Amino acid sequence: MTTLVAVGAQWGDEGKGKLVDWLAPAADLVVRFHGGNNAGHTLVVDGEKTVLHVVPAGVLNPDTQNLIGPGVVVDPEILLGELDVLQARGVLRDPSRVRVSGRAHVILDWHTALDKAREERAQGRAIGTTGRGIGPTYEDKVGRRGIRVADLLDPAGLRLLIGRLAEHKNFELTQYYRWQPVDEEALYAKAVEWGRRLEPYVDHTGRILERALREGKTVLFEGAQGTFLDIDHGTYPYVTSSNCVAGAVCTGAGIGPTRIDRVLGITKAYTTRVGGGPFPTELDDAQGEELRRLGAEFGATTGRPRRCGWLDAVMLREACAVNGFTSLAVNKLDVLSGIAKVQIATAYRIDGKRTEEFPMTLGELERAEPEYESHAGWTEDLRELRRFEDLPRNARDYVARIEALVGVPIELISVGPERDETIVRRDPFAS
Ligand code: GDP
Repeated sequence: MTTLVAVGAQWGDEGKGKLVDWLAPAADLVVRFHGGNNAGHTLVVDGEKTVLHVVPAGVLNPDTQNLIGPGVVVDPEILLGELDVLQARGVLRDPSRVRVSGRAHVILDWHTALDKAREERAQGRAIGTTGRGIGPTYEDKVGRRGIRVADLLDPAGLRLLIGRLAEHKNFELTQYYRWQPVDEEALYAKAVEWGRRLEPYVDHTGRILERALREGKTVLFEGAQGTFLDIDHGTYPYVTSSNCVAGAVCTGAGIGPTRIDRVLGITKAYTTRVGGGPFPTELDDAQGEELRRLGAEFGATTGRPRRCGWLDAVMLREACAVNGFTSLAVNKLDVLSGIAKVQIATAYRIDGKRTEEFPMTLGELERAEPEYESHAGWTEDLRELRRFEDLPRNARDYVARIEALVGVPIELISVGPERDETIVRRDPFAS
């Protein structure tokens, strides 16, 4: 038995989807434990692209069961849409391969409306959320007035819950934001229909997981977003509304910390970020443009261009500390081909003082000036390469330097978006 947690080591979009899909065949279960459809995973198998926002990336593998844990917030419309596509493609014949926790909270029309109303109101101070209602749904969860997936299966109880929430939400929408109210009756009718259609998928996922662990199965926990978008450990307030670090598996899926064997941190060979907030190694110039073009850095969920910059070892070390990485995967190494001089930030200078540690406050991070070391680049196309030894010397040195700077082994290197464009130095599941 092995349990492996795969999480983003940066600000998300590290290519977790591709790696989870690659790792999934070795797992009996793939589990999502936090976030919602603000995550966007692009999977490419045999040239065919599938973008998933809620269903775990293990779904393309016919022998893997996929759980959506209680820590996830679910937009039923999106989930049902993905299930329909997967069924139409013949990928999902057996509904038992996807199980959604009855305890997961439901994203409702109020949440998406509030998300948009707030971002519009914030203007220059906008967080840059995906406008999918994730944050407002978590607020209602913590405010103990949220509606959960299991509630959708009980129309009478649901009527009361929606009535109570309507009073609160429509007041905020109309009185504070001057937005249109959500029609309570229409939403109720829609929610009952969601419940009817979702019923075959709703389950006690914690129990399925517990049984699987007892039977010695292999479980992969699929993180969304990334370490620096974590509500507690990220660059608050430019963060998402859930905990994204490895520890969130315990609460979001419902297992004890003693059941986690390995933690794989996923990083790009450079850094990107979507939305607002400080980004010390950001390249606001032609080099940044070039990275964006070469790496096709546009959001899978929103299509927004991503901000691009050099790899930041200060961030990666912090991510390693917060998550307890046992190993790293470096993605998109192929994107750096052709760049003459590749840089890595090894320390920051903040208010004249040098530090190798990630600062505590946003203000310090905003003032951080990275100290770089330069590495000679390579020109070879890496996408055909499958063995570490076959990488150009400078690419190998670059990988080795990241390993040394972060202090954990790099087990996987991704050299292209396709499933097989992956270099394996060691099996991440092997304890
Ligand atoms: P995620 O949210 O972390 O799964 O990341 P996204 O799916 O938003 O973004 C990753 C993008 O990079 C997708 O379009 C992937 O197909 C692509 N990708 C993943 N790994 C690689 C890689 O090694 N090389 C290249 N060129 N593209 C990659």
